[in-house]
Amino acid sequence: MGIFAKIAAGEIPSYKCAENDEFYAFLDINPLAKGHTLCIPRREVDYIFDMDDDELARFQVFAKHVAVALRRACPCVKVGQAVLGLEVPHAHIHLVPMQSEKDMQFSNPKLQLPQEEMQAIAAKIFDEYQKL
Ligand code: AMP
Repeated sequence: MGIFAKIAAGEIPSYKCAENDEFYAFLDINPLAKGHTLCIPRREVDYIFDMDDDELARFQVFAKHVAVALRRACPCVKVGQAVLGLEVPHAHIHLVPMQSEKDMQFSNPKLQLPQEEMQAIAAKIFDEYQKL
């Protein structure tokens, strides 16, 4: 099993933000901005566009709900969405709270946040997700 599948299964720790039967969301460990979240399917699939239409649609709706919760937890102009997948071969959607376009530049230096702050951010997003 790959690292993200193990995270979704709870075998590797993560800062959980949201979940349902099919999908899981957690904080990116090297965030571009506070609240940078990754959404993944529990099922192991590498390339997002290999997902069938229905699964991809459900995945996008899950990411939308996480983005709503994320914006409430981490106020921002908008939540940006990106798909790269060049580093980890398990489909994932990046959600990044944006104050400006620069926040979506993946070549930017990443933030290093203390564990307590990561925990607090994830708990806020999780709380907002539960309220939806
Ligand atoms: P990419 O595959 O290019 O979309 O990048 C993978 C992303 O996953 C990067 O932003 C990493 O910081 C992030 N990442 C890798 N391992 C972990 C992990 N164990 N927990 C949280 N985020 C991770």
